[in-house]
Amino acid sequence: MRPKFYPSLVNDRFGDPVVFVDFLLERRAILFDLGDIHALPARSVLRVSDVFVSHTHIDHFAGFDRLLRLSVGRDRLIRLYGPPRFIANVEAKLAAYTWNLAETFVDDLVFEVVELEDAENCRAARFRLTRRFAREDLGSRKLRDGVLLDEPSLSVRAAMLEHRTPCLAFALQEPEHINVWKNRLDERGFVTGPWLAELKAAIFERKPDDTPMRVGLASGGERALPLGELRRDLVTITAGQKIAYVADAAFSPPNRRAIVDLARDADTLFIEAAFAAQDAEIAAGRAHLTTAQAGELARLANAVRVIPFHFSPRYAGEEACMLREVEDAFAGKPELA
Ligand SMILES: [Zn+2]
Repeated sequence: MRPKFYPSLVNDRFGDPVVFVDFLLERRAILFDLGDIHALPARSVLRVSDVFVSHTHIDHFAGFDRLLRLSVGRDRLIRLYGPPRFIANVEAKLAAYTWNLAETFVDDLVFEVVELEDAENCRAARFRLTRRFAREDLGSRKLRDGVLLDEPSLSVRAAMLEHRTPCLAFALQEPEHINVWKNRLDERGFVTGPWLAELKAAIFERKPDDTPMRVGLASGGERALPLGELRRDLVTITAGQKIAYVADAAFSPPNRRAIVDLARDADTLFIEAAFAAQDAEIAAGRAHLTTAQAGELARLANAVRVIPFHFSPRYAGEEACMLREVEDAFAGKPELA
């Protein structure tokens, strides 16, 4: 099966943090972080439906202006997600410009902004161009397991990390694919019908194997069979794609636990590695990760592939060495003395 998500770093590893995730066969993309996005073509920016901002240090959020500039005059809804006080950050960005001609626009540009209040609660607000981006509060809701965005074909979960300021890490997850084999239905004398949707839902919800499920029969009518038997005989289940994004974070025990949990079994883990392994003390002072720490977290999370980024400019010209330190830790090789 072809992957649905195509993630890539927008800038080089020393540039502002931004990951662009393009969607297969959809005019849609999402962004993790919103640093400088000038390297992204306008047509790509205009596909972005959702933007997940880890925190609002300027190198992670300065790209908002370009997103805004390209989107004004278009009929668009863009959803933004961020840490505590994020709604006020977006409001302040929008308030920096004069919108006295807003009523003359026919197309409306709408931002829906969600901020985490803490690990379990979020609140939302809306800003519409035709209302001169006056803030409209949309209330609060409880978060279930950190899930910010929940659609049938994808979900995005956040974990709150500590970076001397609350900082969010994200995981984009495609649900598992449940494939029903038509030939196996025929062999058992079953017909397709609404019962298959019920079967898939029960598998998704991981109901117990002895759960009775109704089955449509080719001979007419239906009968009940246990879920476990139907799952074994009729379907194959393939894991969905998972992409995790971590920037920025101190290497503290709570952060380590949260990162490993969030990024577990990710196909691709983007993770900041601001400092070289030997500069762990400086990294700790700035609440950042080193190369070796990033590689170790990727290994502990059992990620398939790790993409380090956000290298400090002090290592200009040493990219290959930085990458090797990440890869060595990822492979479990002991650190060189
Ligand atoms: Zn940063």
